[in-house]
Amino acid sequence: MKTKTPTSETIESYLNDLLRISHFKDYCPNGLQVQGKTHIKTIVSGVTASIAFIEKAIELKADAILVHHGWFWKNDDARIVRQLHARLKLLMQHDINLYAYHLPLDQHPVFGNNVQLARVLGFEIQGQSKENDLVWYGKPSQGSQKKTLQALTAHIEKKLHRAPLVIGNEQQSIKKVAWCTGGAQGYIDIAAKLGADVYISGEISEQTTHAARELGIAYISAGHHATESYGVQALGAQVSKVFGIRHIHADIPNPV
Ligand SMILES: [Zn+2]
Repeated sequence: MKTKTPTSETIESYLNDLLRISHFKDYCPNGLQVQGKTHIKTIVSGVTASIAFIEKAIELKADAILVHHGWFWKNDDARIVRQLHARLKLLMQHDINLYAYHLPLDQHPVFGNNVQLARVLGFEIQGQSKENDLVWYGKPSQGSQKKTLQALTAHIEKKLHRAPLVIGNEQQSIKKVAWCTGGAQGYIDIAAKLGADVYISGEISEQTTHAARELGIAYISAGHHATESYGVQALGAQVSKVFGIRHIHADIPNPV
């Protein structure tokens, strides 16, 4: 543990190295997206840098916020107007740093959303798809109670505190699971190719139902927010441990 209050730059370079951001082609900049005060004593983590989250962070006296969904996405309007203007104004009025890590946080072998979701759900990780390494696979868990789709669904509901939407036969047995956190329902064909009995992601589209039925794989839509809540928490805890600063996770509930 370091005793000196770390600077925003020190934390940024630590996180950028840890998450190997230069190895990713992403839809948004990863790292420090908005510069704030120089020294950081309190970091608040959350899924999305929304107004509600920034307000909560201000209340918690944050010097920096750490999120999975930051700003400045590839197809966004490049102007600072409306929603972005309101968010940025609020953040800058309070001189808060914004760190955002998207794909590098999904993928990290320790702090990543996919690995952390597997930990929360008790999955035994076996690997990642060679075709698309965002899709992970493994065994549901050691417990005998998770052998059917129905039992696995109940387990996920209990762990993530949210009722999932499920496509498939409740009584079918589940030996192999594949998953990708967030809005990754489009990767269902990759999960089917892996021979998984069920694919778990955060959201569902109309066509996902047909894909599941026609590819012969069950689908569980477990919540975008719910499946991506754990990476930032693990990362925030790591920063707190390494630099001896305060970390608080602020959950702004989102049913999607
Ligand atoms: Zn996401």
